[in-house]
Amino acid sequence: QEDKQESNQHETLRWAARLFHQTLESDAGRAAYAYLVGKRGLEASTIRKFGLGFAPEAWEFLLDAARRDNIPVEQLTALGLVTRHRERNSLYDTFRNRIIFPILTVGGQVAGFGGRTLSNDPQTPKYINSPESAIFEKSKLLYGMHAAKNDIRKQETAILVEGYMDVIAMHQAGVTNTVASSGTALTRYQAKILKRYTSRVLFLYDGDNAGKKSMLAGIDILLSEGLTPWVVLLPGGDDPDSFIRNYGKEAFLEELESEKSSFQDFQLRCYRDAGLMENPDTASKAISAMTKSIALIADPVQKELYLEELSKKLDLSRQTLRKVMASSNDDRA
Ligand code: ATP
Ligand code: MN
Ligand code: MN
Ligand code: MN
Repeated sequence: QEDKQESNQHETLRWAARLFHQTLESDAGRAAYAYLVGKRGLEASTIRKFGLGFAPEAWEFLLDAARRDNIPVEQLTALGLVTRHRERNSLYDTFRNRIIFPILTVGGQVAGFGGRTLSNDPQTPKYINSPESAIFEKSKLLYGMHAAKNDIRKQETAILVEGYMDVIAMHQAGVTNTVASSGTALTRYQAKILKRYTSRVLFLYDGDNAGKKSMLAGIDILLSEGLTPWVVLLPGGDDPDSFIRNYGKEAFLEELESEKSSFQDFQLRCYRDAGLMENPDTASKAISAMTKSIALIADPVQKELYLEELSKKLDLSRQTLRKVMASSNDDRA
């Protein structure tokens, strides 16, 4: 019974994805299509590869289509594609005037949608997602995983970015081992999915403070799941998508090569940039954070080597660092 219900839901999601996609490629989607091609630099084949769609600026576009195609409205409400207006007790489409990003499971089933507004109204949130449900658990999904998984395995590295458009721009630039954590901080569950395909993950989040903070947090999650994190820090205002549009694909690929640093170098750089290494009090806290990360590494050789590296970089003895590591372990216990 439950399985039946779930497969119906997946069918309805597929139906909606197809409808949004057809709409993007129809007259009703002309402005949205022009935005993707003209302003965001997407090719027709990229739009198709990711099944991008468009939800028009109407209250009952999906509702009308469901009535026409005999899709029970309760299914749309259960999936959050349609919302109930409390006071009026009426129903309306959740996604309106938005570019639609279908979010697939690793196996390629539609689990839900992200939607980016085309409106310039600052009151309208830039992105919305399908609401959380048994079928759409955002923390357990990685955007682009279905398209990227084979290349992640082949190239023995996954590249992790923040946004939908970053995944899409990178795949279009030929970097097809890219997936997104979709704005949320990386979760343990997402790390476990990645680990089925590779042991190396390259963080390429937005080059702003929020991006840096998320990468610092993500490093410890990956380490504790037995993955090795690497980091590329993009210049200030850029994310991978804007970098590619601003400087071109070649410059981007070169940036990936030349700016790649170990998670430890990235940590140290963040703490130095924040001025934490300038006085003993804050430096001690920063060093303790770094030894905590090392303590998460299960492989004894890697653990020892990272400790030795840190000892050289800080000009502190390994013995001292081991003491810090031991005392931070006590804190956690
Ligand atoms: P664009 O390039 O289209 O302006 P972006 O992807 O660079 O968008 P960011 O603000 O950097 O946008 O956000 C990164 C990602 O975080 C988005 O792609 C989206 O997956 C997620 N996100 C951002 N804001 C929200 C939100 N309000 N609700 C849900 N997800 C969000
Ligand atoms: Mn951002
Ligand atoms: Mn962007
Ligand atoms: Mn961004």
